[in-house]
Amino acid sequence: MITPVMPTYGSPELAFEKGEGVYLYTGDGRRFLDFGAGIAVAGLGHCHPHLIEALKGQADKLWHCSNLYEIPEQVRLAERLVANSFADSVFFNNSGAEAVELSIKVARKYHSENGHPERYRVITCEGAFHGRSLATIAAGGQEKHLKGFGPVVEGFDHVAFGNLNEMRAAIGPETAAILVEPVQGEGGIRQMPKGYLKGLRDIADEFGILLMLDEVQCGMGRTGKLFAYEWAGIEPDVLATAKGLGGGFPVGACLAKEGPAAAMTAGSHGSTFGGNPLAMAVGNAVLDIILADGFLGHVDSVARLLWSRLEGLCETYPSVFQGISGAGLMVGLKCVPENAAVVAKCAENGLLLVAAGNNVVRLVPPLVIEDEHVNEAVAIIEKAAGELAGN
Ligand SMILES: *Cc1c(COP(=O)(O)O)cnc(C)c1O
Repeated sequence: MITPVMPTYGSPELAFEKGEGVYLYTGDGRRFLDFGAGIAVAGLGHCHPHLIEALKGQADKLWHCSNLYEIPEQVRLAERLVANSFADSVFFNNSGAEAVELSIKVARKYHSENGHPERYRVITCEGAFHGRSLATIAAGGQEKHLKGFGPVVEGFDHVAFGNLNEMRAAIGPETAAILVEPVQGEGGIRQMPKGYLKGLRDIADEFGILLMLDEVQCGMGRTGKLFAYEWAGIEPDVLATAKGLGGGFPVGACLAKEGPAAAMTAGSHGSTFGGNPLAMAVGNAVLDIILADGFLGHVDSVARLLWSRLEGLCETYPSVFQGISGAGLMVGLKCVPENAAVVAKCAENGLLLVAAGNNVVRLVPPLVIEDEHVNEAVAIIEKAAGELAGN
């Protein structure tokens, strides 16, 4: 018999009753160190007092009024994202897929408004994940996400990961934009090669197409900068973000430079819930913390400790771990045994991790972890590795 919850998620074994900082607790009192953070969402840990205060404060005032009216917290969050990024303008949605979907719409509309409606195709990289809507599964191009949902939305081309020559060769008269994750998440925590984003920027400029980044997972401080593109010394034209932006409250955003943003004229796009007062209040509270002096420096330094400890583990247990990848607090451990077995072993020992593609186990802890949490996590992974190596 069918479960009341549609069976897309398998059957989870754990259920949590409460969260506190970097720990989650089951109803029967078991404690787990959460290095999954709800898949890179709870960047400030669970139940951060400043976020609770913002959410409760807004809940007492106004939940929803629609975008028929100005939402002051929305204007403020947009202003702050603009002030702290490449962008000139922001549209708020409720999820990552919506933010990427809008990016794709912006690319098409931009060229259409500029006299090139024939430019509608978007080029993405193999291994990409851009969401689960019809257009974003087409953008991702993964057979496992597309199967059974045909016909596939038209207008996406796929090139090899991190290969500038292939990207350049794929551009044609119908190309509107390039869309990539600076650090691929679901695909296996793969950072784009050094110089790649810069190369893409040059190619996009040369052909008059847009460079669009999917920072739904790698943005909002996860790599030690507010956005991952900052490490590459370039600016995109459009960027989608979501996961960490609400620290656990559903919110996404599409950020854009003036050119593409100006194509989105009144009535051309909309969202009932996007930019609602609750999400905006929490988003502003998240920014209060991420933008505070020293926060991103902390992410960077605790990430360096995590990387060096994990490198040590890879050396000690070559029969279990083949190496690490990613950036900042978005780390992939390439497994020799099945990644699911590593995730299960660590969970047995009180550490939550998340599997990713390419047989990788993902460590995407809250950005507020301290050295002691790194040590606790590494000790558990080491125990799991010892047990798995012995098998
Ligand atoms: C999670 C994710 C998405 C989709 O976000 P949803 O909120 O699940 O729709 C898109 N792109 C990337 C890179 C992601 O990690």
